[in-house]
Amino acid sequence: QEDFERRFYIPHLTDIFDDAARIPSTFCLKSRRPITEDFANGYPSDEKWNGYVNNNDRVLVKTIHYSSPSSAGAECVDPDCTWVEQWVHRAGPREKIYFKPEEVNAAIVTCGGLCPGLNDVIRQIVITLEIYGVKKIVGIPFGYRGFSDEGIPEMPLSRKVVQNIHLAGGSLLGVSRGGPNVSDIVDSMEERGINMLFVLGGNGTHAGANAIHNECRKRRMRVAVVGVPKTIDNDILLMDKTFGFDTAVEEAQRAINSAYIEAHSAYHGIGIVKLMGRSSGFIAMHASLASGQIDICLIPEVPFHLHGPHGVLRHLNYLLETKGSAVVCVAEGAGQNLLQKTNATDASGNIVLGDIGVYIQQEIKKYFKEVGVPSDVKYIDPTYMIRACRANASDGILCTVLGQNAVHGAFAGYSGITVGICNTHYVYLPIPEVISYPKNVDPNSRMWHRCLTSTGQPDFI
Ligand code: ATP
Ligand code: MG
Repeated sequence: QEDFERRFYIPHLTDIFDDAARIPSTFCLKSRRPITEDFANGYPSDEKWNGYVNNNDRVLVKTIHYSSPSSAGAECVDPDCTWVEQWVHRAGPREKIYFKPEEVNAAIVTCGGLCPGLNDVIRQIVITLEIYGVKKIVGIPFGYRGFSDEGIPEMPLSRKVVQNIHLAGGSLLGVSRGGPNVSDIVDSMEERGINMLFVLGGNGTHAGANAIHNECRKRRMRVAVVGVPKTIDNDILLMDKTFGFDTAVEEAQRAINSAYIEAHSAYHGIGIVKLMGRSSGFIAMHASLASGQIDICLIPEVPFHLHGPHGVLRHLNYLLETKGSAVVCVAEGAGQNLLQKTNATDASGNIVLGDIGVYIQQEIKKYFKEVGVPSDVKYIDPTYMIRACRANASDGILCTVLGQNAVHGAFAGYSGITVGICNTHYVYLPIPEVISYPKNVDPNSRMWHRCLTSTGQPDFI
């Protein structure tokens, strides 16, 4: 209980709003209930059922009991086991809301890079806002820049506008990196009268959203700022998965399969596929597991050598001898220690990574030339093709629920929160809690070991 209050308490606008301002929800659930007579025995009586989520409903963060300290995974539990019992807030529509729909002026903004599902989330936010009765909804074009750049008008949004946008990838609103400072963004929000802001983006965007939330509170503005985490890498703490990840893994199969066919059809063919994953190798690991066509999977969390008796190159030589071909899957952030450091950063201040895929390709070619073994190396980088895809079915559902819950959270008066899925339940989390550091693949985890079992690769150290 104490830990919950300390760690996962989600900011609420109660101190700014008069509690008496709460009104019954305009998101009516009863009208959408099945007809009672048909379910006479299966549903509780009308008095008991209201379908809203109680503010005190909670979801357990970890649902495993390790019976022995030597059980796989148990080493990560701190000795007094307190974190095992952590709870987070359950997401969903509340019975009492803090905003009168006719007074809501909602804005949506998408920042960072592209990710499958952005349009699905935008669409669902708009649709849900309309169901609450909101009439004024706008899209801020091209990320946070849209708040300051003149000549980019905001985009009025309605169900009609967003009806079919999920059929294509990308973001209806456009994205960008960098842009105005937080105080300018909040000035612009004040000018436009925005009192609900939905922010779709990664860790940088969420850091911005949290700063916007804090600035609004400082100015005692009655504004709800709600994030929807967008990271194709699936590297956000506490969440089962983030939208776009499933689609990315599925789409990566096409690239891997092409690399496999190329490698398999050539004499001593070697295919290399570079996948997304700046600091965590979830996409590479899951794509390797899903495809069953990868011989070597390289991720940022697990160091490796290319050269030397236990290096990747020696193993590739062995694979050519024994199998005749090989396929390597490498995450973009893997092996950065092998590359020349540059201090280049993008407009948002993120470090520009060296291209590990190209480097590995060159080193493989060089190595086989030196040892006098013929080889035929093909390199595929499907990054932009994957990011631009439309969401698959499972991501489509995830986006839909996240979008709806973002709106429920804002109406409930929460701000500085983000939405996610935790142990199959949808939850609200305080933003700082999920962006304090990226979630990584644990090299001691069962999943990574399953991946190694599947590829058959040794340690490259
Ligand atoms: P991606 O996963 O695609 O990198 P991201 O949200 O991390 O998504 P960034 O380009 O890092 O993408 O940031 C998006 C926006 O957030 C930019 O407009 C940037 O200026 C802003 N931003 C980043 N970090 C902060 C921060 N610490 N405080 C305020 N704003 C920030
Ligand atoms: Mg980022």
